[in-house]
Amino acid sequence: MTSAWAQLLANFAVVAMFVSVWIHTHVWVDRLGARTSSAAFGLLMGMAAIVVMSLPVKLMPGVMIDLRFVTIALSGLFGGPVAGLITGVMAGAFRIHEGGAGAFAGTLSVLAAMIVTTAGHQLLRGRPPMRRDILIIAAAVAIASRIGLVVLPWHIVEAYMKTAALPSAVLDFGTIVLVGLALYQERRRIEALQSKRIYKLVVDALPDCLNVKDLQGRFILANPATADLMQAEETEALIGKSDFDFYPEAVAREFKQVDMAALMASKSINIEQRFTRADGVDTWLSSMKTPLTDYHGDVVGLITHNRDITRRKELESELAQSRAQLSYALTHMADGLVLYDSSRRLLLCNEQYRSMFPKTAHLRVPGAMQRDILRAAAETGEIVMPADRIEAWIEDIVDANRVGNQQIQLGDGRWLDVRARPTDDGGRLSVFSDITSAKTAESELLAANEKLNHLAHRDGLTDLSTRRAFDDAIEREFSRSRRSGSPLSLLLIDVDFFKLYNDQYGHPAGDECLRIVSRCIETTARRPSDLAARYGGEEFAVILPDTDARGAFVIAEALKSAVRALKVPHEASQKKHLTVSIGVSTFDGDGAASVGQLVRRADEALYGAKAAGRDRVHGWRPYAGHDVAMAQGG
Ligand code: GH3
Ligand code: MG
Ligand code: MG
Repeated sequence: MTSAWAQLLANFAVVAMFVSVWIHTHVWVDRLGARTSSAAFGLLMGMAAIVVMSLPVKLMPGVMIDLRFVTIALSGLFGGPVAGLITGVMAGAFRIHEGGAGAFAGTLSVLAAMIVTTAGHQLLRGRPPMRRDILIIAAAVAIASRIGLVVLPWHIVEAYMKTAALPSAVLDFGTIVLVGLALYQERRRIEALQSKRIYKLVVDALPDCLNVKDLQGRFILANPATADLMQAEETEALIGKSDFDFYPEAVAREFKQVDMAALMASKSINIEQRFTRADGVDTWLSSMKTPLTDYHGDVVGLITHNRDITRRKELESELAQSRAQLSYALTHMADGLVLYDSSRRLLLCNEQYRSMFPKTAHLRVPGAMQRDILRAAAETGEIVMPADRIEAWIEDIVDANRVGNQQIQLGDGRWLDVRARPTDDGGRLSVFSDITSAKTAESELLAANEKLNHLAHRDGLTDLSTRRAFDDAIEREFSRSRRSGSPLSLLLIDVDFFKLYNDQYGHPAGDECLRIVSRCIETTARRPSDLAARYGGEEFAVILPDTDARGAFVIAEALKSAVRALKVPHEASQKKHLTVSIGVSTFDGDGAASVGQLVRRADEALYGAKAAGRDRVHGWRPYAGHDVAMAQGG
């Protein structure tokens, strides 16, 4: 080997050695920060430049070359401007230090190489150099670094151009490209390592199980979640093992079948699997199985992604259970139930609700609008509603604010009680109960009450008010009269010789007689406010509100005459006909001081009428010094 080749190889070895040092150390240096790393790379390449400049290759007598531009180009390209500057300055300084005729030219070329690589780096705008960038910059440096020739004497330039220019440029270009590509690969390796690290971190942190098995079902790769699921100590414990090493045979065989199915299908499959873990816990997995292929597309294994969906399955079954319970409750409840959303669209109802409205049941289905249902119910007469304002009635029901209880009557006579409640989302829940029997019972009760009331206040024989009703009424009217100052009169009526009538005609005839007199009293005291009562036995009382003594006498006289005019035969009486005697008393603000006094005075007046010969009307007169009856006929 000639010494030129040996020198050339030495140059290569130096560059390779320094680059190798960098490749092995930059991971640590990078940790010190980008600038420090860049400066360190520049320094290393600067040292490489000095070493290669110390080992020049003698191409021919007087023509020496070395790989200094390679170090500058690599430094600027991969280390950035700082590195490029450091390497360039070191190379330039060393060249000046070496001196000689070519010192200036050499320094100029170093400067040119430095400028070209720095500019190239700038053009990349922070992006790491790719293969094409390396080629372009290698070419640019190989050309630009010949700039030093311009300051050399022409004959030297001529000789150099003829012999060394091309080989040295090609050498620079080739070396930059080769070493550049090595550094490029190194960067790619680091990037790959980094992304592998990231993937591993992600896979390890994944709560889901991720693993890869070979075609024999042995784990090639597994994350901690897989180890956890299989209750292995660590992921490494899984590698090389299969499901048969961790699960009962039946379970492992089932898993194997699924794996085989995915491998046969040659595509991803998703399934849900249920199994019992070694610790007895029932577990549900949602699994995605994807065949793993090599570079040639041949299936070499199976990737499995498992998600533990036990909780979800539990929730699903709880949900299904509560749905079933709800549906059972809805189906078996006695009431009808309907749920509308905020736009009054029917969301849900039970069968009872629909059967309560047989004419519109077909419309009462999810999705139907409440307005349409109500309109149909109005048109078919299913619900009783005011015919002249159906739309207003519908709007009132649909109104969002209308909640509470309501009773509606159906066309067929049934009654429904509706309890409407708002829901949180603006909808409305209504519960319908058939209250027809309660309504019937209520009206029967009302009728019975009325009857009872009647019985309590009406006399059974004469149908006039009872004595009790009279007592209440006279108290009431007396207080009213005292408050308002209006007069109040009272008539006490007694049938003459009634005992004799009974004796002669019999008790039933006597009863009939009392009924006749009662009708007579009713037709005589006709004002709505007048109250006629059976006072006791064959005695009657008439309360005449807003009636003074004169008015009361007119009525009493009319009554006396009316009874007489009936001409009911009464042989035992002197008059030969049925007659009555009437006592009148009046309260006109300053008369009787109490109800008792008013009644007593009427009674005294009646006594007076009897004493005076019966069939007459007597009034009580205060000014006579004692209660003296005033005869008014006979
Ligand atoms: P006077 O003209 O003085 O009033 O004589 P009188 O016979 O009517 O008076 P008395 O008070 O002695 O008799 C009242 C009679 O009325 C006695 C009773 O048999 C009769 N009487 C009372 N209540 C009833 C009744 O509900 N039905 C019948 N038929 N008679 C009755
Ligand atoms: Mg009597
Ligand atoms: Mg009598």
